[in-house]
Amino acid sequence: MTATTLALAKVRNIGIMAHIDAGKTTTAERILFFTGVSHRIREVDAGNTAMDYMKQERDRGITITSAATTCAWTVDDVEHTINLIDTPGHVDFTIEVERCLRVLDGAVAVFDGVAGVEPQSETVWRQADRYGVPRVCFVNKLDRAGADFHRCVEMVRSRLGAVPLVMQLPIGSGAGFEGVVDLVSGRAHVWSDDGYAVVDVPAGMAEDARRWRGTLIETVAAHDEEVMGLYLDGAEPSREQLHAAVRRLTIASAVTPVLCGSAFRNKGVQPLLDAVVRYLPSPPDVQPATGDEPLSALAFKIMNDRHLRRLTFVRIYSGRLVSRTSVLNSVKSRKERIGRIYRMHADRPEEIESAGAGDIVAVMGLKQTTTGETLCDEDHPVVLESMDFPDPVIEVA
Ligand code: GDP
Repeated sequence: MTATTLALAKVRNIGIMAHIDAGKTTTAERILFFTGVSHRIREVDAGNTAMDYMKQERDRGITITSAATTCAWTVDDVEHTINLIDTPGHVDFTIEVERCLRVLDGAVAVFDGVAGVEPQSETVWRQADRYGVPRVCFVNKLDRAGADFHRCVEMVRSRLGAVPLVMQLPIGSGAGFEGVVDLVSGRAHVWSDDGYAVVDVPAGMAEDARRWRGTLIETVAAHDEEVMGLYLDGAEPSREQLHAAVRRLTIASAVTPVLCGSAFRNKGVQPLLDAVVRYLPSPPDVQPATGDEPLSALAFKIMNDRHLRRLTFVRIYSGRLVSRTSVLNSVKSRKERIGRIYRMHADRPEEIESAGAGDIVAVMGLKQTTTGETLCDEDHPVVLESMDFPDPVIEVA
């Protein structure tokens, strides 16, 4: 692996898709909140928790105003970069959704734990199927009366035709929803006014947890040779082996891990972020290393910043995008000048000199480029397909 591929292996370009009202916005805000916290928690006493922080900072309010927001999340002591891309998940934006699916490598599908799989979720799910976008599911709103995690899981199977992989079991229901049992680690994650803690599985749930862990391993074994081999030998896969197998199967869209929680009550978001990093693909997983190839990038969203300057959000597929250089808009056959390049964090933009394959950045200075157009090296003109492209692999015309 080259250094670039290694660095890119720690990037997740993801979107959140959901039926209107399922909690897409709330989940995205909590992701930005908790990833913002993750930086600071290291600097404070170990006793401090995200929940304490949440109380202190609640009023500041984090809202997503960017088409793509960059945040960091550490799993097993390795920091990863998550680019959260704002995909309009509602049916009126079908075209826009499709365009974004080409930009992201994986997605979190959020469902309302009471309503289950709703029609718009189906529409967006089929689009994600068509573009081969791996997903993890988050059954949200488990704090609501009438929420039913297992019914939702069954709907993922029957309505969406997916192979759901139950990764967690909810602890408590409705107003008594406290947290989740993680079936891989065999530990319980609970949230309360005192904070977030990882504890033993409640005694009353031990049998259920054992049975569902068995189902998880059997489902993985049915699709994965390594785990099948262990299973046939009567051996338990280790935590690492199970994570690795779930990752392989998720990236191949053979299974879809299902997690649960209540974004609104700040329950379940940290394990969801762990799952994003563990199971969703990095750019090199989806698109093989590009090495020294010339620049190709797709503009997927145009926005104005606070000062009404035009920001063009681009995903780079190959080569490097360098500030203060000229590129070709191959769709319009016009030269464009790249001004400043930014990574958009939730609280501030960070100016960078250049960005490489797999990156998602905002560019200032483009005058003519619109959504869906390709930017490339003047000497190597290419056009990236922007829509109606059934294969997830990027084809260069
Ligand atoms: P979106 O349309 O999918 O972006 O959904 P929103 O995030 O705007 O949420 C829709 C409504 O559901 C809002 O009133 C949220 O406060 C509420 N909501 C979101 N998540 C939860 C949750 O976990 N529990 C409960 N009870 N309400 C939630």
